[in-house]
Amino acid sequence: MFFSGLFLMSAHAGVMTREAMTQAFPAPLVVGEKDRDLPVWPIFRQELTSTTLAAYVFESQDFAAIPGFSGTPFNLLIALDPNGQFMDVRVLSHHEPVFLEGLGEKPLFAFVEQYKDLSLKQSIKIGTGQSKSGKENGANVYIDGVSKATASVRILNQTLLAASLKVARAKLGYSEGRDPDLVAQIRPDVFKVLDWTGLRKEGLIHQTTLRNRDVEQAFQGTAGEGVDAEALQAPSAVFADVYVAHLNVPTVGKNLLSPEKWAYLQQRLDPGDHALLVLVKGRYPLMGEDFVRGTVPDRVSLNQQNLPIEIRDLDLDASLNLPTELADAQWMAVRVIAPAGLDPAQALVYALHVTRSKGIVYPELVRKSFTLTAELPHAYVTLASSDQKTWHSIWYERWLELVVLLVGLAVLVWALRAPAWLIHYPQRVTWFRRGYLVFTLGFIGWYAQGQLSIVNLTAVVQAFVAGRGLGFFMYDPMTVLLWSFVAVTVWLWGRGTFCGWLCPFGALQELISQLTQRLGVQWRRVPQRWDDRLKRVKYGVLLVLLLSAAVSVTWTDRLVEVEPFKTSITLNFVRAWPFVLWAVAMVLLSAFVYKGYCRYLCPLGAGLGVLGRLRRWDWIARRSECGQPCQRCRSDCAYQAIDKQGAVDYDECFQCLDCVVIYESDALCVPRILDGRAQRAVIPIHAVATPQEQP
Ligand code: SF4
Ligand code: SF4
Repeated sequence: MFFSGLFLMSAHAGVMTREAMTQAFPAPLVVGEKDRDLPVWPIFRQELTSTTLAAYVFESQDFAAIPGFSGTPFNLLIALDPNGQFMDVRVLSHHEPVFLEGLGEKPLFAFVEQYKDLSLKQSIKIGTGQSKSGKENGANVYIDGVSKATASVRILNQTLLAASLKVARAKLGYSEGRDPDLVAQIRPDVFKVLDWTGLRKEGLIHQTTLRNRDVEQAFQGTAGEGVDAEALQAPSAVFADVYVAHLNVPTVGKNLLSPEKWAYLQQRLDPGDHALLVLVKGRYPLMGEDFVRGTVPDRVSLNQQNLPIEIRDLDLDASLNLPTELADAQWMAVRVIAPAGLDPAQALVYALHVTRSKGIVYPELVRKSFTLTAELPHAYVTLASSDQKTWHSIWYERWLELVVLLVGLAVLVWALRAPAWLIHYPQRVTWFRRGYLVFTLGFIGWYAQGQLSIVNLTAVVQAFVAGRGLGFFMYDPMTVLLWSFVAVTVWLWGRGTFCGWLCPFGALQELISQLTQRLGVQWRRVPQRWDDRLKRVKYGVLLVLLLSAAVSVTWTDRLVEVEPFKTSITLNFVRAWPFVLWAVAMVLLSAFVYKGYCRYLCPLGAGLGVLGRLRRWDWIARRSECGQPCQRCRSDCAYQAIDKQGAVDYDECFQCLDCVVIYESDALCVPRILDGRAQRAVIPIHAVATPQEQP
């Protein structure tokens, strides 16, 4: 949660104080005055004769309050140097359940340490130990994630980058454009063989012609008027024929460059960068006399949506496939870096700057700009979805797990529709259920970390109270998929679909109690009076948790520990002993009181029970004899979810299918057994009534 004496006060206040800042950045660093418009502190480095700006320091929650898994955002202290490099990153506060009394905060602090000296201009990705070598690669850098806390560290990463980009835009001249994660992408798969004319027809090369007269007209009334004799002499002559194109669109680049140069260009560009071509033919050179290759061009600039975007000469040494009339044209390929946020689906406005001077000793300079707007046809880009990379890539990375889960859910739906192949064979049901519980515990729980939790519900309350969105859930695709499925099945069938089949901790209890039964430990039925009372306890636990979520994040962090899921499923019982003791006790309780935790204590089960009141369908078939007089299913229901009248209490039913099997069985369902006996009894009577037919 909060750590370090140094930051304790400031973190509580949500804002760093001057004292805390001075302690965090001691001499030779000097903390400057906090910016009046932006919550950013400049930090200066004092050297012998000079003082230089060392970094801008800010708290992430002031710029990107992205909720974590408790619904409350991380607060990071970030020091970004003037080159966009992270000088320091520290965690001021967090409420991530997995790091609170779970893995502990050490791995979290080790994780943020990795950002030091990385640059905002790099594409920082969370990878594995093997991919860390990419760190030296520059453009693409991988930092180690934290196992069991994948979603949390991704949210931290997003918080850090989003907050830093905002500061970089305000202070370091990064484009004010869109978030680089939310722009369209150039489609690498679209390619057509086209020549220069074809490219122009396709809308991939844009052109404008400036004549002397146009330029002269622009300078009219200024000191630059009439100083260009050549323009006055031949007003209709071409001043500059300007062509622009998006060079890293494959149809452009591959048609204009040789295959080697196209490959070379790809190498030069970092992910998300753009290469643009500017070509000028005419009497106005594209580059001024003082222009140095590899720097920002002096005669061309770029704008998108009224915001300047920095371009820099790529110094691309290549020859272009140009038509003969343009063979002597001057051209330049420029780069736009990914953090600049250029959106290739939006119009780009190129400007050609023309400067005229008047006078010799102190010449008066006048500059005029001539613009050319270019827009890529949409067939060449993939439009940005509302929040592209932030969670897209996570879903993509986990596609196999999601497919396995989807198949598992489909199998469950099939089973719960009680197909004859399954339901008419009690042994098959037993083995099917056992197998499914192993899948739930092993795959959903321990492997894919898909245990739904009361923390998901308290996070919703906390986000709602703080007026934040629920987008943070998208960082955990398993959770999203499972909750979506649960939302539908709770409405259709009630709480039992999740609690009986998809909860890893529920599965663990059930498997352990099957094992202990085999070892001779028999669970006991709780006297009905006590069962009725105890079942209400879980609703009390739920209420306390939801109220605490609305008023205190800190208390909620503590109270959610009533749920042993984090200890048993997330951390595999590797945790401080009080938590392990509680989790083991809850699992073992099931050996004596069948799924006692689920039935009496679980706030998530209670929450699902409440939502299950919306259930549309009493899907467990009943007979008129159920309850009066037959008590067979009731006495067999280990969850004590059938009342004396034979009605199923869906708030407590775990959809184990036991009573469904009984209902469908001639050998188990008492009315059917009696019917069968009655029918068999009739046949001998009939046979006895006709002795003359006997031999
Ligand atoms: S009651 Fe709780 S522990 Fe039991 S199956 Fe449902 S959610 Fe899981
Ligand atoms: S026996 Fe029937 S009522 Fe009892 S939990 Fe199983 S399916 Fe539900």
